[in-house]
Amino acid sequence: MTALHTSGDGRGDVAAAAPRRWPLLQQPALLAPYVLVVVALYAVLIGLAVTHTVWRPQAMLVFAALLACGAISIEASRRLGMPAGVARDLLSAWWLPAALLLPPVYALLMPIPLQVLLQLRVRRTLLHRRALVTSAHGLAGAAASVTFHTIVPHPLRDAGAWLSDLDAMIPMVVLCAVLFTMINTAIVMVAARIAKAECSWRKLVGNREILLLDLVEICVGILITISCALTPLLLVIALPPVMLLQRSLMHTQLRAAARLDSKTGLLNAATWQLEADTEITRAVRTHDSLALLLIDIDHFKRVNDAYGHLTGDQVLAGVAGTLVQQLREYDVVGRFGGEEFAVLLPNADMLEACRVAERLRSRVGRMCVPADDATITVTISIGVALFRTHGHDLIELLASADLALYRAKESGRNRICLPATKKPGEPRRITARPSPRRL
Ligand code: GH3
Ligand code: MG
Ligand code: MG
Repeated sequence: MTALHTSGDGRGDVAAAAPRRWPLLQQPALLAPYVLVVVALYAVLIGLAVTHTVWRPQAMLVFAALLACGAISIEASRRLGMPAGVARDLLSAWWLPAALLLPPVYALLMPIPLQVLLQLRVRRTLLHRRALVTSAHGLAGAAASVTFHTIVPHPLRDAGAWLSDLDAMIPMVVLCAVLFTMINTAIVMVAARIAKAECSWRKLVGNREILLLDLVEICVGILITISCALTPLLLVIALPPVMLLQRSLMHTQLRAAARLDSKTGLLNAATWQLEADTEITRAVRTHDSLALLLIDIDHFKRVNDAYGHLTGDQVLAGVAGTLVQQLREYDVVGRFGGEEFAVLLPNADMLEACRVAERLRSRVGRMCVPADDATITVTISIGVALFRTHGHDLIELLASADLALYRAKESGRNRICLPATKKPGEPRRITARPSPRRL
């Protein structure tokens, strides 16, 4: 199952009496109509399918069995939770057989009880996200179902016939499974792209790891479809290995998610420090240059005070996205504290570091985040420090960049500074900062 890759901090309970405060209306203007169109299309198709379906006991029984398997899978993995960043739960394994073997109405209905269960038992997320994900699964399932039923009109009743020519049928089953995944991913991806315009399509499509997970879901779904077509009793045998696979998949994703900051998707402070240490060790060994940028959003408290924390979080995510867009793949970028970011630039000398810092400053300054009836813009101050010139390890480098950042703030903000040569009696930065050693 593909879910929206968002922080999902459950702030959907904003006062119902103030429509402008509804989380969906606080998103980019296009998102609300997009979600409404998708959900409306889903609802209309359900209405049509329900009235045009001949309800057969055999199909209803298989549907109930698949639903039960999905519910058991959800309950079994409930303790693991599903924090932001965990997007695959292998539920498609149960949805694909419903889509291929049963009339389209079942594929449309299947996501509703399972998503309600996920919402109530695993993780509460914003209702519009849940509605969109449910609709995406329903529509994708219906498309796969209609396609397969044009090839085999009664896949469950005539299972013996098409299973006897399985070699010829496998490509059709694979095609429908791929169609299911592609439509589902596309619907969710368009919403993610509207919500995060700065995120490239390439990044949304995902890396090799995500495509591999898609492949695993498709393969497991196909195996269960064929088993279920042989006899639904095989579902009992398929359930334990699928649950085990689901657990190990989620465990892997949980470990990956634990490295990231959930609000921005950047490395969290602890992971950033580990990766920065590794880069410094490499720079010592190879004698390469290396620079550190410490970035702080100017007057960020005013954003929170004027527009609220939720909008403040969107600004944080926007700044993070802009930073990532402007940096190279191997630059180490993390969220260092509340509204502070740290960037390690391997192989960068002073000139290059200042050039990158200036690019970041100017791009963030041009970034606009929509909020209520206004557009928010922010500026950043950046402290730059160079390895060997301003420090010989990460702690010294951070202290120097911190000093430079302090100078940038003192001299008017929205600028880049280097650490000054410390004069006797010069005051240290007063702002409380966690000691890098304790990160
Ligand atoms: P300066 O230009 O001196 O940096 O001013 P500032 O207002 O940015 O600095 P200050 O340190 O006074 O305030 C930082 C604010 O960042 C205060 C805090 O509420 C806010 N903040 C920290 N973490 C988060 C977060 O995760 N989300 C939101 N929305 N705000 C946060
Ligand atoms: Mg700060
Ligand atoms: Mg600040």
